[in-house]
Amino acid sequence: MDTSFIKYIIVGALLHSAAATMAGQITPVPEKVPCVVSDRQDIQVPDRVQLGGWLGARIAANEANRLVRIDTSRLLEGYRKRPGRQTWDGEHVGKWLHAATLAWVNTGDAALRAKLDETAAALCECQLEDGYLGTYLEKDRWTAWDVWAHKYNLIGLVTYMRYTGNLAPLAACQRMADLLCKTFGDAPGQLDLVSSKVGGHMGMASSSVLEPMVLLYRFTGEKRYLDFCHYILRAWEQPHGPQIVSRLLAHQGVNQVGNAKAYEMLSCLNGALELYRTTGDRKLLDACLNAWQDIVDHRLYPTGAASYRELFRDDFDLPESNNVGETCVTVTWLQFNAQLLRLTGEARFAEQLERVVLNQLLGAQKPDGSAWGYYVQMKGKKPYSSTLDGHCCLSSGPRGIALLPTFAISTDRDGAVVNLFDAGTANLTLHDGTAVNLKIETLYPAEGRIRIAVDSHQESEFSIKLRVPAWCNESRITPEGATRGADGYTTLRRKWKSGDVIQLDLTLEPRVVIGDHLCEGKAHVCYGPLVLAADEALLAGADVRFENLALAKTAPDGLGIAGHDAPPEWRTWLGARLFQVNADTRKGGTPFTARLVPFADAGATGSRYKVWLPIAGRPMANLLLDGTESRSRQGNVAGSINDDDPQSLVTTFDGKPAAEDWFAVTLDQPVSARRVVFLSGKVYHDGGWFDTSAGKPRVQIQRASDGPWETIGELANYPATTATHGDALKHLQNRFALELSEPVSFTAVRVIGVPASGDNPRQAFSSCAELQAFAR
Ligand SMILES: [Zn+2]
Repeated sequence: MDTSFIKYIIVGALLHSAAATMAGQITPVPEKVPCVVSDRQDIQVPDRVQLGGWLGARIAANEANRLVRIDTSRLLEGYRKRPGRQTWDGEHVGKWLHAATLAWVNTGDAALRAKLDETAAALCECQLEDGYLGTYLEKDRWTAWDVWAHKYNLIGLVTYMRYTGNLAPLAACQRMADLLCKTFGDAPGQLDLVSSKVGGHMGMASSSVLEPMVLLYRFTGEKRYLDFCHYILRAWEQPHGPQIVSRLLAHQGVNQVGNAKAYEMLSCLNGALELYRTTGDRKLLDACLNAWQDIVDHRLYPTGAASYRELFRDDFDLPESNNVGETCVTVTWLQFNAQLLRLTGEARFAEQLERVVLNQLLGAQKPDGSAWGYYVQMKGKKPYSSTLDGHCCLSSGPRGIALLPTFAISTDRDGAVVNLFDAGTANLTLHDGTAVNLKIETLYPAEGRIRIAVDSHQESEFSIKLRVPAWCNESRITPEGATRGADGYTTLRRKWKSGDVIQLDLTLEPRVVIGDHLCEGKAHVCYGPLVLAADEALLAGADVRFENLALAKTAPDGLGIAGHDAPPEWRTWLGARLFQVNADTRKGGTPFTARLVPFADAGATGSRYKVWLPIAGRPMANLLLDGTESRSRQGNVAGSINDDDPQSLVTTFDGKPAAEDWFAVTLDQPVSARRVVFLSGKVYHDGGWFDTSAGKPRVQIQRASDGPWETIGELANYPATTATHGDALKHLQNRFALELSEPVSFTAVRVIGVPASGDNPRQAFSSCAELQAFAR
């Protein structure tokens, strides 16, 4: 296995490191306050773990093509010339400092270290006399996202100080924290941190400063920072606050906490776990465990993504397209699981880490590391971008990748723990001081064989814990004698001597997951830990439209799934695989062989992809897919409203006004439905929505062919709009349903309403992405 691309520039690292232990390893500057709760599993300093497989390739790409190349003057621009170009522009520099510090510790890259030193110093120079280090003008202070920017500056600078040993930014950090302590609190004259005037999302954005305030308390020992953390807990529980802890302790779903904004809430929870570690306040851990269970049970996509339109939504309300799985949520979900893994030592959290890392996180990162997707949907195109403007996720994704070496292979009080299987080496120090080197050879997840060579200076007894994944039905470990513990790990405990080798064979098998709820009537295929997807680029040559591509069967045996080496254009790493599958068209009768690709690499060439596939010959849950669509006016966009693709929309634009517009689907045979769903199209400057000032859009049916249109209800949750303003549709959901108490039979259905004119009153039009009907 070629790991030569991993750069070891230890000399450069040593020049500035806080303290060097064996073989040039970095020892972080110790914290002054010990934690009340000891970690059950350790966080590793990233130089201990060098990954060289698929994860290693992505880690190297993250550093070389994103973190080192970044234009740091762009990161600092909003601080040097206030105000920043938009309200949360200040977050990027702290997020970069965090990711780049971890990446530098991992590689020792001197160029990255130089950039870190320069940027940390330059950021501190932008601090104002009173400690303010946000991007707002004085008159606009503490009005939206500037506490948030202080949060990331603290996270970035504290991480930088601990790993580099350069404490120059400490004064700036304390002045920032002191300003926050002085400004916010529940004493007379202080501002309320969770007030809507200070920050959005019911105070969850601003109060997520909890995490670095805990870290700064432990780093400095200054009790006033801990007092501020306790103030945040009180602020959360005010009547107008997000009530994070109390609601979670009462087993309310995360969709009932605050305003359900996923990134901000998970950021708060990560702070709560840091506080629990520090003080031992058990209710904080319990609240977080309840949140974790709720998310895993009700709110995760197959790839480990969470959130739609950035919110935790109702149970199983997981639409496939558009605003799926914000990458900031992916990364904070990763951090949340990594925190819980440290605190509990339970393999179930590592299981979720594997799922989100190998699928959603790698799927959000462009394989060459240069760009990231904001929303990374289950169906559509990957929206890779490398422009920071308006792209919070572009500075979150690299943090997720840079964190991988901190938990992939680790230690606990019994010995070593292998959480993620990637080729590479780990130079670990066990709790009794024993130095252990693990060398892992594998092509996982392309192959299920993992060889771990153990090297220890003296023969010594300790445990090596392996995570046998929950999806794996058959595994074999040599040497024999492994036992499965209550923590979910399979443990080999013995006297190890140099040259001992563990061989773990995980049988990788295809699995077919049948869809439910919004994905009823479809299925998706997994192979080992990988979620597979169809990619339009792999259909070239087949006489099948991408929309019609279906799985031939639902039994894995009938699908004939087999992995093959990927051809050169799909070879993003040494073990890259494509998977052959027996396919058919949606209506069946045209069998052919198709190829699927891991979600992480799907859409990488700019093509369309989809995770959930129809099952040949089986009716889809949406009853309108085989109907004929029509609309009041032809419009100027060549999409479709019944192609199961919400991204292909239609409009009624013809440059003229109209009193009413409608979008219809007509069927050959009557169907019986209880639910009609309208997915709105796009809000343009000059229309595209329904004006609801005189009433909500109505749902009408024809009970028999060419019969009269009969109104059966309206889209009650369609937002309030006017002819000129449709903004509510931009920021709220775009899926509106009419639920019927009894099934209704019809041969045609339509949604009808008043078109809007936007900024051009001489015309009006509306748009629609999809019209659907369901039996239940
Ligand atoms: Zn984001």
